Parts: sequence; C-alpha cells; structure tokens
Amino acid sequence: MTYDFVVIGGGIVGLSTALSLLRAQPGAKVAVLEKEAELAAHQTGHNSGVIHAGIYYAPGSLKATLCRAGEKATKDFCDSHGIAYSTIGKLVVATDDVEVARLHHLRDRAGVNGIDVEEVDGARLRELEPNVTGREALLVRSTGVVDYRAVTRAMADDVRAAGGEVHTATPVTAIREGADAVEVDTPGRGFRARRLIACAGLQADRVLRLGGVEPDFRIIPFRGEYYELPPERAGLVTHLIYPVPDPELPFLGVHLSPTIDGRITVGPNAVLGLAREGYPKAAVNLRDVADYARFPGMWKFARANLRTGVVEAFNSVVKAGYLAQARKYCPDLTAADLRPHVAGIRAQALLRDGSVVEDFLLRQTARQLHVANAPSPAATSSLPIGQMIAARVLDGRGQTTDAPNASPRT
Ligand SMILES: Cc1cc2nc3c(=O)[nH]c(=O)nc-3n(C[C@H](O)[C@H](O)[C@H](O)COP(=O)(O)OP(=O)(O)OC[C@H]3O[C@@H](n4cnc5c(N)ncnc54)[C@H](O)[C@@H]3O)c2cc1C
Repeated sequence: MTYDFVVIGGGIVGLSTALSLLRAQPGAKVAVLEKEAELAAHQTGHNSGVIHAGIYYAPGSLKATLCRAGEKATKDFCDSHGIAYSTIGKLVVATDDVEVARLHHLRDRAGVNGIDVEEVDGARLRELEPNVTGREALLVRSTGVVDYRAVTRAMADDVRAAGGEVHTATPVTAIREGADAVEVDTPGRGFRARRLIACAGLQADRVLRLGGVEPDFRIIPFRGEYYELPPERAGLVTHLIYPVPDPELPFLGVHLSPTIDGRITVGPNAVLGLAREGYPKAAVNLRDVADYARFPGMWKFARANLRTGVVEAFNSVVKAGYLAQARKYCPDLTAADLRPHVAGIRAQALLRDGSVVEDFLLRQTARQLHVANAPSPAATSSLPIGQMIAARVLDGRGQTTDAPNASPRT
C-alpha cells in the first residue's frame, strides 16, 4: 500500500509532525519510523525538561515565534492529556556589572518578544531564593518543567488513535524518490509514501544524503553534561536558576533545574562530542569523528572558538571548574553535591563557512522535507513546529529556512 506520509524519527518533532498531519488531514495514512526500540531515545529524552518562555531569541526569528506559541501549546497539551508539568518560573541572575548590563538587554528583548518579566533586586532575590546570590535578576514566571518523554509518548498515542502507525526498532536504511512516490527501506520491510518527512535529529545530514541530497551542512554533536544534586539538597532552589548568557557563546550556561520528578540537575555544559549517540564520557565513534573532521566548516569553527572549547573541555574533566560556574550564583554548592547524571547530546548543524545554524533549518525536494536543524527550544516548540511542517508539506511550498543567527541555545 502507499502511505500518504512517512515520517522518519520518533523524537518529539517527528511525533508532533505526524500528529499535525493527521489533524490537518483526518484519515490520512501515516507511519512514523523510529530506529530505536523506544521513542524519544535521543535529544528528546536527554534534555533539561524546560518549557521555555522565549526571552532569549532574536525578535522575528522562527525560534522566538515558535517558542512563544509552543510554551502555551505544550501546557495545553499536558492539561488535556493529564501529563504533569509545573510552572515554577525562572530567575536569570546577574552577578557583576557586565552581567547586569546584559540582563537589561535581555529584559528589553523579552519585552519585544511580548514576554512578561519582573525585575528583581538583590534583596528580593534572597527572599525568593535564599541560597542564590546576585546583584539583580529577571523573573520569568511562565517558564515551566515537564518530562518530554511523557509528552512524546502521548503524541504517539494520539497518532495511533487517529489511525496512524508508529514503528519502533525500524531504522531507515535507504530512500528512493520517484515521480509518484518515495520508497523507504528498513530491515524488515519497505514503505512507500506520497511524501516523506525526516526529523532525524543527530542523523539529519546522513538521512538527507540517503534521500539523494548532498547536505551543505554537517551535524556536530555537542555534549551537554549534567550533574545531579543528592536528595537531601532537593530544596536548594525552587525556581530554575540561570546565569546571564554571554552573547559571544552559543549556549545558555550551566543552570540549576528542578525537574518534574523532584530532583535538581546542574548543567548542561557544551563540549564537542566524539560520538553522536554515545552518552558515556568516554564514548568514541570513529565514523562520527571522521565525518566532522573532514568537513571544512569544522576547522573554521574550531579556530574561532578555540578558547571557549578548551575551557569547556577543561571544566568537563575537572569538576572544580564546572562547580565554579554554578557557585557564582549558588555559593553553597560543594563538590560533594555534584553526583553523576546522564548527558544529553545536541544535534547542531554547522555550515561550510564555520557558522553554527541558530534557527530551524529545512531542506526540501519534490517529495521529501528534511528537518536539518531543530535546536533548543525545539522540545518546547514542537507542537507549532509540527504544524508549520505539516502546512508546508500539505501546500507543497518549497522552502529552506535560515533565520537570524542571534540567539543563544541551551
Ligand atoms: C542537553 C540538551 C538540553 C536541552 N534542553 C532543552 C530544554 O530544556 N527545553 C527545550 O525545549 N529543548 C531542549 N533541548 C532541545 C530539544 O531536546 C531538541 O531540540 C528536541 O528534542 C529535538 O527533537 P527531534 O525530534 O528533532 O530530535 P530527537 O529527539 O533526537 O529525535 C530524532 C529521532 O530520529 C531517529 N532517527 C535518526 N535516524 C534514523 C533512521 N535512519 N531511521 C529511523 N529513525 C532515525 C533517532 O533515533 C531519534 O529518535 C535540549 C537538548 C539537549 C541535547
């Protein structure tokens, strides 16, 4: 039989896309193909679990627009599916003059993005969070926490309930696009579809190549390493506590995140990974390393970010360095508080000129649409991203997307 749509990738973006296609075209024949035995096995299941409000992102960028819509959509979806989330709010804490100036810029940007923030002085910060110190802070009340694995599983249930199929342990190994359909090989069987949508995260460039398109970018794995506080420290903070991001650096900085199941994580950092899907620190995959070592953009990126890369790598192996970042705003923390916690790995698209792609990036052929880059906060934004992709697939518009490169990432 010929499916209307086959979606590659059982992460939150793939499931949300399948759901949006079924909502837009009830009765359509849809199959989601996920290579792992479980859904949400990669980025979606290894993140900070934050429902972002969207204060950081360049006004007018897809990131800003989709995050704002996604924050509300995620909470509505959780409400209607009985999924626990908590709107605990976030404090972005400035500890010196430079950070105070950056914090004011962030306040102004939040205003342009239409997000309510409250300015908090040092004394009020102490009242809100007795274990946190800073000169000033911004309180973002609408920021929340959730388990994105649970959200993804609920999306999969909705897909099945609407007549769609979700196949786990089904890796796509070949794609052939013809005039009338796309044929997709997996070890057990083949699938034929009118349209193919790939949301393959860490494998996005390889799946695009399978589809017959030589990617003009490379996926670089950036490890986000976390620690976890011991249970007796569970009440250390009640809000998410973030440093003020350095605009020169492409990530938000090590933060304290109370999770929906009552733990507190510290992190993530951002370290160049040696394996796309290897979570232990020592994981190495030579094919993954060779793939980026051969890419000219990688060397340009490395030269431009050498200092940051060295500091991040040092702090990754020397716990005291990592700890110092969090102690800037939470001086009570000790090395004994930092317990091991599984890392996440970001799929970051890098261009040939060495620039990192900050926003969502799509690549399209007549019958295929590939999500090439879906960086944080794509978990928060997944529902509107799915709607956007479904709309593009259904109205057949060719589109590549490169919005302004001006937003830090988690
Ligand atoms: C450390 C970290 C912290 C983050 N924190 C946050 C946060 O707090 N809030 C937020 O909103 N976002 C956060 N993000 C970002 C967010 O997690 C991702 O943007 C989002 O999960 C991307 O979803 P995805 O479906 O595109 O990718 P993934 O979840 O990686 O899914 C892609 C899927 O495709 C499958 N696949 C790949 N190749 C094939 C193939 N050949 N055949 C079949 N299946 C295939 C993979 O197995 C995988 O399951 C964070 C990310 C990281 C790494």
